[in-house]
Amino acid sequence: MKYDKLIQMLKKHRYEVSCFDNIQEATGYLLEQVKNVSVGFGDSETLNSMGLAKALSENNLVIDPSASSGKDFVEIGKKALVTDIFFTSVNGVAETGEMVNIDGTGNRVAGAIFGHKKTYFVFGRNKIEPTLEKAIWRARNIAAPQNAKRLGYNTPCAVKGDRCYDCSNEERICNTMNIHLKKMSNIEAEIIIIDEELGF
Ligand code: SF4
Repeated sequence: MKYDKLIQMLKKHRYEVSCFDNIQEATGYLLEQVKNVSVGFGDSETLNSMGLAKALSENNLVIDPSASSGKDFVEIGKKALVTDIFFTSVNGVAETGEMVNIDGTGNRVAGAIFGHKKTYFVFGRNKIEPTLEKAIWRARNIAAPQNAKRLGYNTPCAVKGDRCYDCSNEERICNTMNIHLKKMSNIEAEIIIIDEELGF
């Protein structure tokens, strides 16, 4: 199978893993799995491009801060931390089974590791790198600059668009970097791999 090595390593790290050919199949599966619960979202371009929050809101209470900003973003992000289920993507994944996320506010990292019955990590094939070192490089030099640009920030990476400058800009979005080494204790976690290019 195409992602055999990655799937094997993620399972070894105690995650459930499901793999899909496209967004439609993944969304159909998640709509069957997640019903009549409260669902929080991290701010994710992958999840936005899937329209997952809207789809899940048919049968669930969905709390998604991604359409808000400033104080509203923080308040909605806090509410998303105490839901039954949490959805996030990642900025980089190593074929050795580690996942990397960079965060400016902390809502995404916090929600991914604590406070929920189950977390889903959803990502496309463009996030996959052969090693943890390359996954970290990707998170810092590809995902973060593109996210800064999406948010309209005036950071050097967003203005120049080529790489991270390890800036001290007030709008810096790289304030913490979380490496998921293995599934956290006392929480269920499922990885959803989609064989498409999704998000940054
Ligand atoms: S540290 Fe600054 S320059 Fe580097 S990716 Fe983050 S926001 Fe951009």
